[in-house]
Amino acid sequence: MTTATTMPAVFIGHGSPMNTLEHNRYTECWNELGRNIDRTFGRPRAILCVSAHWFINATAVTAMAAPRTIHDFFGFPPELFAFEYAAPGDPQLAESLATIVDPMWVGLDHDSWGLDHGAWSVLCHLYPDADVPVVQLSVDASKPASHHFELGQRLAPLRDDGVLIVASGNIVHNLRMLDFSRGETGFDWAERFDTEVRDLMLAGDGAGLVGLDRHPDYRRAVPTTDHFWPVLYLGGLADASGEKGSVVIGGYGLGSLSMTSIAIGM
Ligand code: ZN
Repeated sequence: MTTATTMPAVFIGHGSPMNTLEHNRYTECWNELGRNIDRTFGRPRAILCVSAHWFINATAVTAMAAPRTIHDFFGFPPELFAFEYAAPGDPQLAESLATIVDPMWVGLDHDSWGLDHGAWSVLCHLYPDADVPVVQLSVDASKPASHHFELGQRLAPLRDDGVLIVASGNIVHNLRMLDFSRGETGFDWAERFDTEVRDLMLAGDGAGLVGLDRHPDYRRAVPTTDHFWPVLYLGGLADASGEKGSVVIGGYGLGSLSMTSIAIGM
């Protein structure tokens, strides 16, 4: 089904893979978000999911008709390894991306990846029936923040074509500094950095995300760029459409994780 309305785009702070099996205020929010999108915009014809967990030295997109469920973690219970998210792929959408992002380059992946938990731990709540085709986009580890922002800008036409863009990461993600005594609170520096990102997005300054490596809390909040860069895609999309972001849900976990999700076009 194609829709005449422009689809929203969303960055989701995904947190632990266990969110797949749990019901908490985040997963309930993601589920409500899916229902809200259905009611307001109609069912997306496909989802393009940028996942922090496909962090390779290239921009690639899953181009298979039936992407497999990848269990890209260890040390979790068997139920999680048994979990399958059997959404179909959308090879045509994957191929069209090459034109849409030109002159940037995207490779078509026919057999190496699939859907990883950055995608399915969130999508299983957004669309529990796995009935919306999903293509996953990698995050190119070799490129700077500006590249991810620009690629996000170039994805904007997809929203007018009924495609829901979901970027999945965490604005603050420092696993070495996890403090289990902190519960659902964040360290001061985590809250400051998360708030900075929110404020930029709420002001419609997606481009402002690109310079955040100069923020005094950046090195603690973003010790590696894999979970942070997905929000650059939302920044690029916001810049392309001139939209301000809105916070879908906010929160922290174990001191050094932020679970904030931000949408545009909602
Ligand atoms: Zn993750």
